[in-house]
Amino acid sequence: MHDPNCIFCKIVTGEIPGKKVYEDELILAFHDINPIAPVHLLVIPKAHLGSLADAQAQDGPALGRIMTMAARLARDHGADDGFRLIVNTGRVGRQEVMHVHAHILGGKEPLGAMLPRPKA
Ligand code: AMP
Ligand code: ZN
Repeated sequence: MHDPNCIFCKIVTGEIPGKKVYEDELILAFHDINPIAPVHLLVIPKAHLGSLADAQAQDGPALGRIMTMAARLARDHGADDGFRLIVNTGRVGRQEVMHVHAHILGGKEPLGAMLPRPKA
């Protein structure tokens, strides 16, 4: 269930501190240590899953819970007029921490573009 070398598993077990904001039997949400928006939370399945690329049917309940809790978490932290949910995946997605996590990004003002548009 937990990978002893995984930094986010260590936050789940309490081995390293995290600014936790929500927890249930399937998922955990905490503040990103290096926020890039006024609201920047991470939401993870408690059971270790390296990447969305590895997801199986059995991961559906936790991944679904992340999706269905996102709006409430965003709202509770001040993003009450929309937010962005991002799951960076693998090398091309530039995933840095190999435990699936959804970034909840928001604030009072619209965020920047999702990606810079390539020049024509
Ligand atoms: P990603 O590029 O999608 O893998 O993003 C990893 C995110 O994890 C980055 O936004 C980091 O700031 C964040 N992060 C890394 N270590 C921690 C930590 N110990 N506690 C909270 N957030 C972290
Ligand atoms: Zn993990």
